[in-house]
Amino acid sequence: MRLFLLIANVNIFGRDFFNHDKASCNICQRKPWFWLPRGHNSAVLKEFKVIGAGPRNVDCPICFSSDRDRLVYHYLENRFGKDSTSKKSVLHVAPEKPIWKRWKNWDVQATGIDKRTKGYKFSYHKSVLNADLTDLPFEDSRFDMIICNHVLEHIPDEYAAIMELHRVLRTGGSAILQVPFSPIRTQKRVNSKLFNRMQRINWVGQHDHVRLYANEPWKDWLSYGFEFIPFEINRETRINYRMHREEPLILLKKL
Ligand SMILES: [Zn+2]
Repeated sequence: MRLFLLIANVNIFGRDFFNHDKASCNICQRKPWFWLPRGHNSAVLKEFKVIGAGPRNVDCPICFSSDRDRLVYHYLENRFGKDSTSKKSVLHVAPEKPIWKRWKNWDVQATGIDKRTKGYKFSYHKSVLNADLTDLPFEDSRFDMIICNHVLEHIPDEYAAIMELHRVLRTGGSAILQVPFSPIRTQKRVNSKLFNRMQRINWVGQHDHVRLYANEPWKDWLSYGFEFIPFEINRETRINYRMHREEPLILLKKL
C-alpha cells in the first residue's frame, strides 16, 4: 500500500523530480539521479507560502533523508562531525532515522524519545524511549543539546513542551526546534479541539497539525529563557544539498 501511494505521488514530469542541479545528499554522501516526493497538499499551505510543509520532491531515495533532515545535519556536522571527543549528551525527539544512525559514528550520547501515538507507525530502534514531550522523564539540565525537528506543530500544549525542553537543557546548551511556518503571516492559527480532519486541513493546512506558525515562530518561545542564534547557510550549500532555499535553522540557546 505504501509503495502504491509512493508511486502514485511520484510525478516525474513535476519540477525538480530529476536531479538537474547535480545536488548531493550530505547524509549518505550519494548523488541520486532523482528525488522522491514528500509533503501534504492543501490550499492553506499554498496560500500562506508555508516553509517546511507542502508537496516537493526532496527526499533522498538512498537514505530517505528529507530537505529538513539535511539542513539539521549540516549544522550537526559543523558542530560535532569533526570533534570526536565532544561526549555531548543529545536529546533527539522523534529521531529521524538518517540522522539517528550517524550518532554511532560520532562521540555523542544520544537519547531518543517519541510518544507512541495511535495512527503513527514508525519503526524506531528499540532504544528510543516512549515519552511525552510535555512531561519528560529526565532531570533538570540533563542535555547539552536538543533536536526537535518538526514535532511542536503536532503538540496541543505547545508551551508545556517548550518549558520541558528548556528545563532538561543545560544553561548555554542549544536546541534545534524546526517547525513549518508561514513567512507572510504575523499571527499563528490555532486548531480547535472540536475540529475534524478536514477542518484542520482547511485551517492549519495539514490533518495532523494543531497550529499554523507565523513568521519567526521562535519569538514566542524566547520569553521562556532562550536566545535565537543565527546560523547562516549560503545559497550554494542549500542548492548542493537540496535544502529549502529559505528555511532558517531555528537554533536557540538556553540563557
Ligand atoms: Zn541520502
